Amino acid sequence: MQTKLITLLGHPIAHSKSSVMHNAAFQVLQLPYIYTAVDVLPGQLTDTIAFLKGQGFHGANVTIPYKVEIMNLLDDMTPLAKKIGAVNTVYVDHGRLIGDNTDGQGYIASLVAQFPQLQLRNTKVGIIGSGGAARAIAFTLAQYGVNKLYVTNRNLDHAEQLVQSLMGNIDAKAIQFDQFQQITAELQLLIHTTPIGMSPKTDASIVPLEWLRDGLIVSDIIYNPIETKLLSDAHSKGALIHNGVGMLLYQGALSFERWTGTKAPIEVMREQLLESLK
Ligand code: NAP
Repeated sequence: MQTKLITLLGHPIAHSKSSVMHNAAFQVLQLPYIYTAVDVLPGQLTDTIAFLKGQGFHGANVTIPYKVEIMNLLDDMTPLAKKIGAVNTVYVDHGRLIGDNTDGQGYIASLVAQFPQLQLRNTKVGIIGSGGAARAIAFTLAQYGVNKLYVTNRNLDHAEQLVQSLMGNIDAKAIQFDQFQQITAELQLLIHTTPIGMSPKTDASIVPLEWLRDGLIVSDIIYNPIETKLLSDAHSKGALIHNGVGMLLYQGALSFERWTGTKAPIEVMREQLLESLK
C-alpha cells in the first residue's frame, strides 16, 4: 500500500498548524496518510497539481492566495464551494478532484459545539468584514436559514457585493460601519472576521464597546491570540465569547473526513492545535 499524500497549498506557508493537527489524527487512527505543506510559488499551481497527481496525491487544503485559482484545476466542486466561489479543501473521488469549502461549516460546527442551545433559525447575526472568511460563513449561515444577517465593512461596497451575492438565500442587509450600532440591540450573534487584533497587534479592536452587551454571543475568528482584545472587551461587558480555534479545528476535521471517509478524532486534533498555538 502506498502512503497517501495530503498537502497544504499556499504561499507563503508559515509554520503550519494544520500539519501537526492532521498528522496526529492520522497517527492515532493508524491511517496510511501524511500531511505536508507545499509553498507553491506564484505561477506554479498547475504544475504542482500535475506533479502531485503522480505522487500518491489524495487531497489538499488550499490557502491564500490559491483558494480561487485552484477551482480551474478541479473536475467538480460541491454546491456550497460553488456558491462561496472559493475552495479550501480538495479530495479525490474515483480519481476525480473535487473542491469543497469547509471554512463556513467548520465555523458553524464550532459554534454549535459551544452553544448547543442556539437556534440558528431564530438568530439575527451581524458580521464585521466582507472578505473570504466572511463570505464562507455568510453562505453557510444562509444554508442553515438564519433569521437575518447584517454585514458591515470598512469598504461598504464589499459588504454590498456580499449581500447582493447572498440574495435569494437569506434576508441580508449591508450597513455602514458608523451606523451599525443602531442594529446591535437586535443581534444574538456578532461575528468579527477582519484581521484587526491579530498577533502581533494584539491591543487593537475594531468593535466599539457600545456594541457589546450582556448575553450577546461575540465571536472572533482570529485564533492568534486565542483571546483577542475584542473577546476580553466582550467578556468584561457580560457577553458570551467564542474564539477562532474552533473554526480552525472543525474546518480541519471536516477536511479530514472528506479525505479519509473516517470520523475525525476531534479531541486529539484540538490538543495538538492548542499545543502548537502556545
Ligand atoms: P480577507 O479576504 O483578506 O478579508 C479581510 C477583511 O477584513 C475585509 O473585509 C477587509 O475589509 C477587512 N479589513 C482588513 N484590514 C482592515 C482594517 N485595517 N480595518 C478594517 N477592516 C479591515 O481575509 P480572510 O481570509 O477573510 O481572513 C480574515 C481573518 O480571519 C484573518 O485574521 C484570518 O486569520 C482569519 N481566519 C480565521 C480562520 C479560522 O479558521 N479561525 C479561517 C479563515 C480566516 P475591506 O473589504 O475594506 O478590505
